[in-house]
Amino acid sequence: MEAGGPLYRLCSACGKMITYPDDYFSTGALTSDPSDPLYTHNMTQLHRQHIRDWKPYDDFRRRVEELQNSAAWKGPELVFDEDPARLHWQTKGRTSENREEGCG
Ligand SMILES: [Zn+2]
Repeated sequence: MEAGGPLYRLCSACGKMITYPDDYFSTGALTSDPSDPLYTHNMTQLHRQHIRDWKPYDDFRRRVEELQNSAAWKGPELVFDEDPARLHWQTKGRTSENREEGCG
C-alpha cells in the first residue's frame, strides 16, 4: 500500500497513522483566513485518545469556543466535553440521535 493515498491519516499528537475510523477525529476546515490563529489547525487529524495530548488543545478549544459564540460561525458546532476524547461535531438543527438499542 502506497503512502499518500486518500486514507493516509496521521495523528498530529503522536505522528502515527490512524487506522480505525472510530479512533479518528478531524478538526475540518475551521477558517479560510490565513491570518486567523485557527488556520494552522485546519484539517488537523488526531487519534481520539490523543486529543488530550495534543499540545495546542487548550488554545484550540478557547479559540473555537470564541468563534462559535460569534456571529461569524456557520455550520456544525464543535462540542467540547470534559473528556477530550469525546470531542465531536454536532450538526445544528438536528436534535435526534440515532441510538440502537440492544445488548452488545
Ligand atoms: Zn495519536
